Amino acid sequence: MNANIRNIVFTTVIFFCSLALFAQKPDIYRLKKVVIDAGHGGKDPGAVGKNCYEKDITLKIALKLGAYIKQNFPDVEVLYTRTTDVFIELDERSAVANSHKADLFISIHVDANKNTKASGTSTYVMGLHRAEDNLEVVKRENAVVKLESDYKTAYGGFDPDSPESHIVMTLFQNAYLERSIRLATQVQKQFNDRAGRNDRGVRQAGLIVLWNCTMPGILIETGFITNAEEEKFLMSDNGQAMIASAIYRAFRDYKNELEKKTGTQPDNDPKVVVPDLKKTETGSSTVIYKVQIASSPKKLETIPQNFKGIKGVERTKVENKYRYTVGNTSDFEQITKLQTEIRGTIPDAYIIAFNIGTQIPVKQALEIQKKEKK
Ligand SMILES: [Zn+2]
Repeated sequence: MNANIRNIVFTTVIFFCSLALFAQKPDIYRLKKVVIDAGHGGKDPGAVGKNCYEKDITLKIALKLGAYIKQNFPDVEVLYTRTTDVFIELDERSAVANSHKADLFISIHVDANKNTKASGTSTYVMGLHRAEDNLEVVKRENAVVKLESDYKTAYGGFDPDSPESHIVMTLFQNAYLERSIRLATQVQKQFNDRAGRNDRGVRQAGLIVLWNCTMPGILIETGFITNAEEEKFLMSDNGQAMIASAIYRAFRDYKNELEKKTGTQPDNDPKVVVPDLKKTETGSSTVIYKVQIASSPKKLETIPQNFKGIKGVERTKVENKYRYTVGNTSDFEQITKLQTEIRGTIPDAYIIAFNIGTQIPVKQALEIQKKEKK
């Protein structure tokens, strides 16, 4: 390669590299990976009906759900905890999701009850279970740990029959609760509106399969295997398709709703409302004050979600960085008040000053204003 060509190649490479850099979008939330967990399996049949096992229904629904997601969102990666009839320990299920850094965990189950008339679907998120029937579900869905050879070591002395153990567990998974509830609500809505299922609601319970998840997670009880009609429905291809498509639609709506919000704090709705100082209030002064809240090489959209709910953020490019500020006034008293207010949310926010567009130390700005008043 002669020097000229090498230069051209080098420049071209640099050019495309920088294109790639600039093409990088600012922190937009994307739901990219979902783990679908078919409850039970192998030596653990789950709830037992007259004609089938829970483990077989959950697997069929899980595979159908995964197929719908892949079909409609080819960019979403679908992972399963199992795709065949095998036994998997409870903590292994969330470990799969954690190690793959999944964005969502969906566990699929079938309910059971001594009362053969009990019917309907419920969706669980991690939490305290106060209602007696929730506790029954918890004991049943957690009981499998007893089939695991060393459950006492694996779950730190956890005893599925002790109420204390359940309460301790709920302390672990609160961070993702809000999103989990959001998805659970969508699931129940779809079951009720479109699949015609009896709605038993969104419930909280200390479920082992959810408690270690480092992402939002839900456990869906898709109906009662002990209810003859529901067992028949859940065993049919059509019934499984209806359940799976309802969960799929809930997934779709949840994903769309989350992705509409951009930034690093998609969940925080605006908390701080900054008085409208965007309009320049300079009077006769040449000095302008602003409160700087962040500085970053990243170009962020100036929406409240990106700045802990603060409204009216302005972005200015300074050399190779972006400066994010609020406020725009010549009144030092006013900017001090704003700084105090902002520090409630961003403790290291501080006042910066400009004289005819050039940044100057605040002290110097105050001196200029003193002279202006004379
Ligand atoms: Zn189950």
